[in-house]
Amino acid sequence: MAVTALYALQNGFLGFERSGLFYGERSAERVPVPVACYLVKTASGTILFDTGVSPRAVAGLLRHDPLARFEDADLLVHRLDALGLEPGDVDVVVLSHLHFDHAGGAEMFPKSELVVQKDEYAAALYPAPFLESFYYRKNFDLPSYRWRHLDGDTELAPGVTVLRTEGHTPGHQSLLVELPSAGPVILAGDCCYWQEHIDAERVPGVVWSPAAALHSIKRLKTLARLLHGRIFPGHDPLFWKTVKQAPEFYR
Ligand SMILES: [Zn+2]
Repeated sequence: MAVTALYALQNGFLGFERSGLFYGERSAERVPVPVACYLVKTASGTILFDTGVSPRAVAGLLRHDPLARFEDADLLVHRLDALGLEPGDVDVVVLSHLHFDHAGGAEMFPKSELVVQKDEYAAALYPAPFLESFYYRKNFDLPSYRWRHLDGDTELAPGVTVLRTEGHTPGHQSLLVELPSAGPVILAGDCCYWQEHIDAERVPGVVWSPAAALHSIKRLKTLARLLHGRIFPGHDPLFWKTVKQAPEFYR
């Protein structure tokens, strides 16, 4: 197996309403949720899954969101530095989708291949009005960069497979990472915000198509069951306390 390590990189915390987390929920109660990126090392190169928020956005987030928390160490560039890596050492950046808390750091990777679903890119440029506030055009309107637009599931490297999981957004994708000892891990991104979205099949409150989102949650659960793997939810504060954080890693 060609994957050698999986690192969880914390990129701070944002406040989020429960009505945004769970479809159909009316509660405006706000809770802090982690912003996560992951680094995958393989025999053939280094792959980053998601890039967190833009460093330029941090000051505004801290000003307007009382639950936002960003330490200096949370900046993606510092998380990479702590692993002895520069942005230029990342060969491939997989963006689950182009919301500001996932695509915010894409700008740091002018030399890397940026992997996104074709219709996610189109939807981000011309978003549905009810999703508009989550897309910051500056994050992804980078025409001189090396974009690779996928259309569906794609094997990126031995043991690293993009899984299309639309619903939260029109072209959301998750990443299956097959680790030699820890076994298969599916990085769900926003397909599954919390463990509760997996267990109780709850659709995210921020959603482009609730029906598609539900089918994608079920698809990841089926794959995890058949592969004897685990799903890592995207924004779960309880899960985040249990995950091995970089510089520790899964192998
Ligand atoms: Zn999102």
